[in-house]
Amino acid sequence: MDSIEELIIAFEGMYAGQNMANLVDLYLTIENQTNGFCSTYSIACGSGCGTCCEYFMPDITTSEARLVAAYLLFIKKDVSLIEAVNNAKDNTSGPCPLYSYDSPYHCTVYQARPLICRLFGACANQGKDGRAVFRRCKYNVEQTMPSSLILDEDVPVMQDYSYALRSLDDGNGKVGYLSEMVSILVEQLRFLSSMLSLDDTNPDDTPTPLAS
Ligand code: SF4
Ligand code: SF4
Repeated sequence: MDSIEELIIAFEGMYAGQNMANLVDLYLTIENQTNGFCSTYSIACGSGCGTCCEYFMPDITTSEARLVAAYLLFIKKDVSLIEAVNNAKDNTSGPCPLYSYDSPYHCTVYQARPLICRLFGACANQGKDGRAVFRRCKYNVEQTMPSSLILDEDVPVMQDYSYALRSLDDGNGKVGYLSEMVSILVEQLRFLSSMLSLDDTNPDDTPTPLAS
């Protein structure tokens, strides 16, 4: 498989396929809105920056872990990367095991990356008084975004996106660190794919030296 669209088709008619499709739709909606927000308020990351990935381990939902796990298993088919995620199960503070300086945007699963990675440095939060507040990412030494904004306008905030994301798991999903969550979902998908006779990771595959 070469794309997330093919991945969704492979699991069509199953909970996993529908869940991945819903998640991708949500990511697309969010991306459109955050692009608009960033363009309106002149917010941009520094050129080639990916420093945040070196200093945190994302908290992700079950749906997000499923998409990342499926991406690793069926699109990248990268045994060494799956092993790296597995080996990072006790790492709660980063670097993220999916970080690679040589990958596009420094993320080996960029197309499937979780919500927090899409929003960090690009989205406002709801402040205590109900107004939206944007604060510059602390690693943005080039100052390519405003240091802070307090917005009276009705702009999308992180809490709304987080609520929408969690609703995809119907209240049954777990939330946890990426390494642990993705490792669990890799095992679940391996089992599912063996029943569907899908093209799973081949242990003889040569690991991709430069991911993505
Ligand atoms: S959010 Fe901050 S650290 Fe992350 S890529 Fe943007 S500027 Fe760099
Ligand atoms: S999943 Fe990708 S974008 Fe998110 S922290 Fe890891 S390397 Fe960075």
